[in-house]
Amino acid sequence: MMGINKLNRELRERSLGRIDKKSPRELAASWSSDDLLYSGPGRTIYMVLPTPGCAWALSNSGGCTMCSYVSDSPLAAVSAEEMLGIFHENLERQIKRQPLDGPTAVKLFVSGSFLNPEEVPVEARQRIIMSLADYPEIEEVVVESRPEYVTEEVLRECCEALPGKIFEVAMGLETGNEQTRMNIINKGFSNEEFERALATIVKLKSEYPVRAKVYLLVKPILTSEKEAIVDAIQSAEYAEQSGVDRISFCPSTIHKGTLMEMLWRKGSYQPPWIWSVMEIIRRVRSLAKIPVIMDTAGFGTRRGPYNCKKCNSALKDMIIQSNIHQTIPEDFECDCRSKWLAEVEYSGITHSASKLS
Ligand code: SF4
Ligand SMILES: [Zn+2]
Repeated sequence: MMGINKLNRELRERSLGRIDKKSPRELAASWSSDDLLYSGPGRTIYMVLPTPGCAWALSNSGGCTMCSYVSDSPLAAVSAEEMLGIFHENLERQIKRQPLDGPTAVKLFVSGSFLNPEEVPVEARQRIIMSLADYPEIEEVVVESRPEYVTEEVLRECCEALPGKIFEVAMGLETGNEQTRMNIINKGFSNEEFERALATIVKLKSEYPVRAKVYLLVKPILTSEKEAIVDAIQSAEYAEQSGVDRISFCPSTIHKGTLMEMLWRKGSYQPPWIWSVMEIIRRVRSLAKIPVIMDTAGFGTRRGPYNCKKCNSALKDMIIQSNIHQTIPEDFECDCRSKWLAEVEYSGITHSASKLS
């Protein structure tokens, strides 16, 4: 699969060359919504903090084949001072908009690895985490990281700074299938590396309320509709059996400048049907004992999971509701369902259309 890697790198270089540089402040964002916490329904404050960009995407690898977060980074150093200032402004804005009055989680997105000191300076990491300890309503703090930065030392530091609060590390496992992760997604870490990071988290559970979450990608490139469903279900089983506490599925959306976008433009790739997503939710929720969230970002748009104009938003709403209560969405009928069924049945044949040419 050298072809994928080379093409991916070239596309990344090209898209990085085209970026309109924005300041770290322009790239930051925050919002909040109802969400499922470990303690039950609550509110989550989301925050996107600017960093110099994901180290994996900026490396020679070119990064993951579906991800363009690096294009939304300032691609220049962001000082600890500046990052902290942006963090406080956003936290205060969200608290002003809606005061903290019940169970709350804070999810810090850095479009890369929060635990990598090259992306988030140690001082910024420590002070951000420490300041969240001051709010009694905040029950959970969630950060994202590739497994290579998950060490006992850094986990201890974060947990010690958050007494009594859940500290969750979310890793982009994407799939339990190592071949797919390495060769198709270009993720660059093995099952063994993931399991090492997970074992480090599990080991500390006797001392701290530390948790592990994984993101699973629904429908990588070069994957048929049917394969995508099977892979998602098997990946969730693998994650749960390995000791993960929570799963978040991310059905693909087409990011600009990625290999996924190139294949999509050529008609060789399409994000999953929302029917496939429903199928995955039903199967996984009936099997898994841990919370399983289905991300609905991009649903019903041209670049995201799509059924038909008549049912997109109804199904999206059903999924959002089912996330908060962990229920299995009920049966739903729409004319487009038979088209989906036919594609799943014959996707072994149409799969040939999604080979790299
Ligand atoms: S998916 Fe994560 S690791 Fe991969 S390029 Fe994007 S931010 Fe980096
Ligand atoms: Zn429909």
